Parts: sequence; structure tokens; C-alpha cells
Amino acid sequence: MQRERCGELRPNAVGKRVTLAGWVQAVRDFGSLTFVDLRDASGIVQLVFRGVPEARALGREDVIRVTGTVVRRENPNPNLPTGEVEVAVERLEVLAKSKPLPFLPDEEVKASEETRLRYRFLDLRRPRMQRNLLLRHKVCLAIRQYLDAHGFIEVETPMLTRSTPEGARDFLVPSRLEPGKFYALPQSPQLFKQILVCSGVEKYFQIVRCFRDEDLRADRQPEFTQLDMELAFLEDPEELFPLLEGLVAHVFRTTIGVEIETPFPRLPYAEAMARYGTDKPDLRFAMAIVELSPVFAQAGFQVFEAAVRAGGVVRGLPVPGGANLSRAELGRLEEAAKRAGLGGLLWLKVAEGLQSPLGKHVPEGVLQEAAARAGLNPGDLLLLAAGPEKAVAQALGELRLRLARERGLIPPNRWAFAWIVDFPLFKLSEEGRIESEHHPFTSPKEEDLPLLESDPLRVRAKCYDLVLNGVELASGSIRIHRRDLQERVFQILGIGPEEAERRFGFFLRALEYGAPPHGGIAFGLDRWVMMLAGENSIREVIAFPKTATGACPLTGAPAEVEEEQLRELHIRVARE
Ligand code: ASP
Repeated sequence: MQRERCGELRPNAVGKRVTLAGWVQAVRDFGSLTFVDLRDASGIVQLVFRGVPEARALGREDVIRVTGTVVRRENPNPNLPTGEVEVAVERLEVLAKSKPLPFLPDEEVKASEETRLRYRFLDLRRPRMQRNLLLRHKVCLAIRQYLDAHGFIEVETPMLTRSTPEGARDFLVPSRLEPGKFYALPQSPQLFKQILVCSGVEKYFQIVRCFRDEDLRADRQPEFTQLDMELAFLEDPEELFPLLEGLVAHVFRTTIGVEIETPFPRLPYAEAMARYGTDKPDLRFAMAIVELSPVFAQAGFQVFEAAVRAGGVVRGLPVPGGANLSRAELGRLEEAAKRAGLGGLLWLKVAEGLQSPLGKHVPEGVLQEAAARAGLNPGDLLLLAAGPEKAVAQALGELRLRLARERGLIPPNRWAFAWIVDFPLFKLSEEGRIESEHHPFTSPKEEDLPLLESDPLRVRAKCYDLVLNGVELASGSIRIHRRDLQERVFQILGIGPEEAERRFGFFLRALEYGAPPHGGIAFGLDRWVMMLAGENSIREVIAFPKTATGACPLTGAPAEVEEEQLRELHIRVARE
């Protein structure tokens, strides 16, 4: 007999004989009468057994199949979509018993994450996890529909390949057939997608796994999924943005029914850093940092004057309604600022006139000017910091986020997108080496080309990020499509001609046989789904994620292997 879906039974089925199968969600036993809630992927329906002893012995998560008749419930349950009916069971088959459970797979779960991951098959039975898996499926479907309708084709690229420099460590796979040689798992399909557009694939995309062997920070996974895209004949990011805004709007509309406002604002990198202290600003709330160096450069307060003289800045962070912060709270903020690398933190309050420890050092007019530039209203606070530009920006950016969170200044249900543009092409590593800000294949802006060798750190890139609520959702660039320019950029990164040929010769060759101008982007799919699902961790939207130490509690990976396997791979493990 055909199996019906538990969650779909409604009063129009009353009188129908049905077969159902699923998991036991709950048993309520009244002696001669036993009620069982039966759950399958579609939902829950109540079963009623009259004088069936086997039913009384059922336990949570047993798997059963029943045949019976749909009847109207005497006491309807308005909280259940199937709450007006129940199934009077005539036949019960126990398909599988469950052992006592390590935790109950209910909406709210009390088990530790380690236990949840170890028994992921139970954890994934929770309605919330089922919803997340379904949402992820819907997001991928919406992406594929939209991109297909816009002429993109999905092309797979290799998992066993050569290193792709995205700035992380590679996962390596030893070759059995060529002793001493290794494949790398792709950090992204970057070079393959560029080669695909050189191959005549004008609009490429792929929902693809990427691998980066990083020390795992809070919400990173060693393998994660990107929506990867590349387009031929793309020279100006502005040609790409409307297409991507349409994609994002389509995904929001079809998966969670939210209308997103487009176009998204564009924010140059330098402005994002100055106003929000970060290249991924949370724009759900204002609290923009203000430049106050000109106000304090010669106002009489030595600490600020010295900072400006040394090439640094004085900046202020307005805190709406912050005048009521206690001395103790201000002290905590100062501690945080010191941890972030600042010498200290001063403040200015608008409460019965202007109050500030600076009052003793600078004329009243200077404080008024600072308050006016920051747009302070009565009851507001302005935090003031001075020092090297980078440190001040970063510290005030961190305080901005922290205060907004602590003081409930972030409005709920808001989706604040922005394109961050005009990134620098290079940055200095901690050791003072020149590195790519994005990756080595990013094109410099034409107007900055003359600075490439003379002042590389001032060269801006044709590179863009999409941020959403303070999270980097996507990152991409217009690429270099000429071998000579690519070699110049390699040279600045310290990759000479021989090394370039050895590591990237295959790619440089593709640039020599008619490479169209091109560009693309990659979205972090896990994060995107996480935000749509309203979750705080990407592990909640990945079926089988790893822990913060890169382990899989379900399978026990990574694990030791047999000596024989190592021998075949020509590998001996040095145990320290
Ligand atoms: N491959 C880049 C990344 O993974 C994205 C891109 O430039 O398209 O970040």
C-alpha cells in the first residue's frame, strides 16, 4: 500500500484507509487506549491504538509502520497542522527499535555540541535542523534557477590539483603513482575558472567545496562551500553588481520571502575604514566614527597634539544615549581600547552642558566643535581616541560594534548590504612583506598602474566585497588578463620569473592565446544560509561539520591509517 505523509493529513482524508511510517515522537499510554505521535519528514500526526499491547511498549525514536483509518479527533490540537484528525490504527509493524537516547532530538537541545555532532543522525532529526537542511537546498536551487536563466552554466573543476594561493595553507594529498609528489585540495577554483573563461565559457558558476588548512578561528571550517562565478568580457564591476543584486534579491524572496532593496550602496574601502574602522561595516545602525584631528591639532591638549604631529589621528565615536554610562563602564571601555592597542580613551558627554575630562585642557569652543562634528544630541556620548590611524580605526570600530550590541542599538530584521570597493591591491604582512589584499590575480586600476613599482601600497585594485550586517558575504575582482601585467604583479609579490613559471606556468600560458578580459566573485554559501536561517554558527547549516579543532566526532576523522597504506604512499610518519 502506498505510504501517505504524516504531516499532510487533513479533515478531507477522514474515512480513508492509510499506511504511514516514521519515528515515534511521543507515547501517551492510558491502559486500553494508547496515543502515539508519529513523525516523518513532513510533520507529525497522532495515532490512536485501542487495546494494542505492543503500542504500549513503543519508545521514543522507534521506527514503525502502521495501517489504519483517518478519523476526526475528539480534542483537536490547534498547534498541529494535522491537529483535527488522527489515525485509528489497525495494524502495527515495528521496523526498528531505538536504544536509549543520549539526548532528545527536540527543537531545543541540551546536549553539548560534541555529543550533537557525534550523534549527528539524531541531531539532524530535530525540526530546526531539518528546516536548515531544507533551506540550504532551497538556496542552492534558487541560485541555480537564477543563474541558469541568466545564461550561466555550472562547470565542475578538480579537487585533486595544484596549490591555489588564497592566503591559507594547503591540504595535501600524496600521490601513490609518483613518489614524493602531492596534489593540493583547492583553496578555491580561482585559476580553473579563469582558464574556463579563456576556454570560451563566458558565464561560469559552481557551487563548490573549498579547502583551507587554517588554524580554525571561531566560525571557520576547513572545508566550506562557495558559490563561485566568473564572466568573460567583464571590465567594470558596475556591470556585475546589478546581476548579483538581482541574484541576492531572488534568493531572499524565494527562500524566506523577504524583499531586499536594491541597488546596494557602494562604499570605498578608505571610507569604510575611516567611518567604521573595518572593511566589513555593520550598516544596520549609524554611529559613524568622525575625524577630529583638525579640531584637536592645536587645541592645547598635548597627548592629542603629539599624536597628530606624529602622523596619527584623533577620532571620535558617538554613542547615542551614552551619557548615562557610569565611570565603571567607561573604565571597561578604556580597558578594551587598551587591549586593542590604544594608549587610552577619553570622552565627552552632552548632559547639563558639555562634560569631559578634557575641559581642563582645551577651550569650551573646541569641545563644542567636536560635539557638532559628531552630531551629538543631549544625552549622547562621544568617545575620543588618538594614535596611529590603523590602531585608532580598529579600536573604535571594535567599540562601535560592542556598544551597539550591549546597548541594543541594532534594529532587528534589517538586512544592510553594501559593496565595498577600491580596495588597495597590496598590504604589508606582519613581517613587512608585500602581500595581495585579495589574491595575486586581481587587476590594478588602470589609473594607478604608474605607481605599481614605485609605490605599490598606494595602488588600488578592481576588487570588491559584498557585506551584509557586518559579515563578508562575497568577495571578487576584475582579473589581470595579460601575461606581462600578471608577471609584474608576481614580481612585486616576490615571485620571480622561474617561480612563476614553475607554479603558474599552466595559467600564464592560458593568458597568451587570446584571453578575454574577465572577472568574478565568490559567495560564502555557508554564511549566507546561516544568516537566512537566523543561526549564529555555520555548523548549524552544514550537515556534517567539523569541530573547532577540525575533528569530526561522528566518524573520528582525522584518524590514523594502516602502515600498509602509508608504505604505498611512500610516507613514513615521524613521531616526535
Ligand atoms: N577565489 C576568490 C576567493 O575564494 C574569490 C574570487 O576572486 O572570485 O576568495
